[in-house]
Amino acid sequence: MFGVNEESPEWNDWHWQYNNRIMDADRLSCVIGLSEAEKADISVCLERFRMAMTPYYASLIDPDDPNDPIRAQAVPSVNETQPFPWDMADPLNEDIASPVKNMVHRYSDRALFLVTQCCSMYCRHCTRRRLVGEEDDPISDEEINESIEYIRKKPEIRDVLVSGGDPLTLSDDRLETIFSQLREIEHVEIIRIGTRVPVTMPMRVTSALLSMLKKYQPIWINTHFNHPTELTRESIKACAEIVDAGIPLGNQSVLLKGINDNTETIKALMLGLVKARVRPYYLYQCDMSVGLHHFRTDVRTGIKIIGDLTGSITGFAIPKFVIDAPGGGGKIPINPEYIVSIDDEKVVMRNNLGQIYEYPQP
Ligand SMILES: *Cc1c(COP(=O)(O)O)cnc(C)c1O
Ligand code: SF4
Repeated sequence: MFGVNEESPEWNDWHWQYNNRIMDADRLSCVIGLSEAEKADISVCLERFRMAMTPYYASLIDPDDPNDPIRAQAVPSVNETQPFPWDMADPLNEDIASPVKNMVHRYSDRALFLVTQCCSMYCRHCTRRRLVGEEDDPISDEEINESIEYIRKKPEIRDVLVSGGDPLTLSDDRLETIFSQLREIEHVEIIRIGTRVPVTMPMRVTSALLSMLKKYQPIWINTHFNHPTELTRESIKACAEIVDAGIPLGNQSVLLKGINDNTETIKALMLGLVKARVRPYYLYQCDMSVGLHHFRTDVRTGIKIIGDLTGSITGFAIPKFVIDAPGGGGKIPINPEYIVSIDDEKVVMRNNLGQIYEYPQP
């Protein structure tokens, strides 16, 4: 349909992938085949929320599987248009914790800097969908400078989390302007990037990008794999190149109903990630943003999955399961309970097999 396929040189050019993102039902139908009813459903949803996916990510969809996990993350569903009383535009109260535009400052030592509203794919489960995809123009130099000024004036900020949208949809030059200014601020110890491009547009991870980033170390990257089928040859290669550049790479997944909400899938994902040299970091309970109700799982499902993994796979392959508390309370770890009782004398605890052990207090 694009006159280009995986063998063409354009396929591996991220500008081509980005500029040829699939954004309407007719073009999507050329790739995965849609009925008229399905096309109509998508169009209804597009009145509310945008769709975009790279040809690369769309090529991972199995057109014969209506429950395909890639499809469920990328293709709009009428479920998104169903209103629920508990839907919140901004469940994490990010706008309230925003001292200047594009900046969320909730934890005193860490600032979240939203440098763009664009993404290579608009994930159906995006928690920040009130902003993401709303604006195609990059944020202005003026706005960037305002945020950098804010960070400069706050010596307690030692960790700047550059996110969005997806920062790696910006050009290398634009990113370099941001990173070089951040690096000039003495109290900024680490720069973190939150990006989904290793998953949705792995060709964005070029040697030019990595050599630029290397100048502004220490940099950490967190990406966002949700399903083992996303671990393709291309995405694994992108991850390896990031790690080879000396940039530690972590992963934040979201627990999504019908996509990855069982032990088998999460286990395969986490083992696949560590094999790809990516360290699992967070597993999020799905937030309460508008149109996400159909993705939300019972919290006990996540607790059970973490319980099943604990003691049964490599410790560092197990992410922290968290709920980002509605109302802006931040991330709260949710764990299976291992403490049976604790007092001045001893702690009584159970292991992952349910056996009881005691540890005397000093
Ligand atoms: C998640 C988040 C961070 C980073 O939190 P860590 O637990 O350090 O990864 C910072 N600011 C905001 C507003 C966040 O939501
Ligand atoms: S890549 Fe991140 S910010 Fe962009 S749509 Fe997906 S979840 Fe939202």
